[in-house]
Amino acid sequence: MSAPDRTIELITSELSGGNSTAQAVVTRSLDAAERLNGTLNAFLQIDREGALRRAQELDGEPGGGGALRGIPVALKDNICVRGMQATCGSRILAGYHPPYDATVTERLKAAGAVIVGKTNCDEFAMGSSNENSAYGAVRNPWDTARVPGGSSGGSAAAVAARIVPAALGSETGGSVRQPAALCGVVGVKPTYGRVSRYGLVAFGSSLDQVSVFGLTVRDAALILQTIAGRDERDATTADVEVPDYAGNLGGGDLRGARIGVPRALLGEGVDADVRARVEEAVEAYRELGAEIVDVELPHAKYSIAVYYILATAEASSNLARYDGVRYGFRAEDPKDLREMYKRTREEGFGTEVKRRIMLGTYVLSSGYYDAYYLKAQQVRTLIQRDFLNAFEKCDAVLTPTTPTPAFRLGEKTDDPLSMYLSDIYTCMANLAGIPGVSVPCGLTPSGLPVGFQLMGRHWGEADILRLAHAYEQAHPLTERPGVIA
Ligand code: GLN
Repeated sequence: MSAPDRTIELITSELSGGNSTAQAVVTRSLDAAERLNGTLNAFLQIDREGALRRAQELDGEPGGGGALRGIPVALKDNICVRGMQATCGSRILAGYHPPYDATVTERLKAAGAVIVGKTNCDEFAMGSSNENSAYGAVRNPWDTARVPGGSSGGSAAAVAARIVPAALGSETGGSVRQPAALCGVVGVKPTYGRVSRYGLVAFGSSLDQVSVFGLTVRDAALILQTIAGRDERDATTADVEVPDYAGNLGGGDLRGARIGVPRALLGEGVDADVRARVEEAVEAYRELGAEIVDVELPHAKYSIAVYYILATAEASSNLARYDGVRYGFRAEDPKDLREMYKRTREEGFGTEVKRRIMLGTYVLSSGYYDAYYLKAQQVRTLIQRDFLNAFEKCDAVLTPTTPTPAFRLGEKTDDPLSMYLSDIYTCMANLAGIPGVSVPCGLTPSGLPVGFQLMGRHWGEADILRLAHAYEQAHPLTERPGVIA
């Protein structure tokens, strides 16, 4: 039997019982990050000095910080931390150091969390495998020949390998839930507008949300409630009360709860082992007392197409700012300004980013706008309505998080369409703006983690977290990855 996981809950009780210090906790995390980086490539920057300085301050100031006092965390490299880099996994932002903290960073720091490093990710959060990083792929701690998922693969791997108990990533179409499932950890994507995007580098602004990884539902809930809530610096954040998610996870009795299963989405294209684990999770909910109901999401089949039109359209506009003038990288010795722009973008962006800028520019161009962009917006509304209809019959919709377990590095790199299909279950929540949580539900016979997801009503994080917690209490994932701190 392995030692219990060093969850936030456990570390906090050690610290408050005087059995450890923030410096000891943070040192352990930094040592693991450094030791495992050669294997996992999960971190793009490890801030030993800054993290230890902060830990020392906390130790010298009993009662300083808040609910995350002394907890080491890692942030995806597209979230701004003052004094640290923010490359977004791109060469075009090499050497860029934002002069300010993202709101989520500020809130984590105020709660006493200690940022140990910035994590590797797909370039500008575009990808499902973490192979699109300009700084090399991240490896899955369960099998280093396989991908951790993407785009927040570094954060997922860091939590799965127990380097940190929790980490932040970002979601545009599933970039936290998808790698959470492939790495056997919990991933939560909040309602659009729940968490500030100030200081999160933009990809698809109508879809982007900072999202959370944790070893347990409770830990993820605690991080989420710390970073959530209205922010004056982001007008898309809503003034909706943030509940005490972690304090209201409830017990295991789910009588009265209704879980909707869209059977039509569980057929073709789903790996047999994934389907088997997810069917077991549905049975587990039945045993916990929940009622399982059939729901239909008739437009869900269009979600990949809609997502890749809207996300690329927004990206093509958001990424126009990288021109060699304002941030990071600039091409050498251009003969004039136009050539400077051209070569900076040519040399600074990777293949996938260029593909998306071209696709996004195309769907927005006059003559094609109505056929693609406008049509996709209309179908997005239909997808949203499907969920509103489903929530008349159930409290949460359950699906696999991903159609397959972690695939081999290189397996899908030559086939962007098959890579895009990894998001088939996740991107609909981003399109609908609703929250989702991915929960580990066992392993395949070859030892790879599988996750299911629950999607809930707008602002209904508390409900899906409670349901996720009940499952996790009854069926915790007890196996551990091979690469571990
Ligand atoms: N994998 C999806 C994409 O490549 C989602 C990315 C994300 O959520 N950031 O766009």
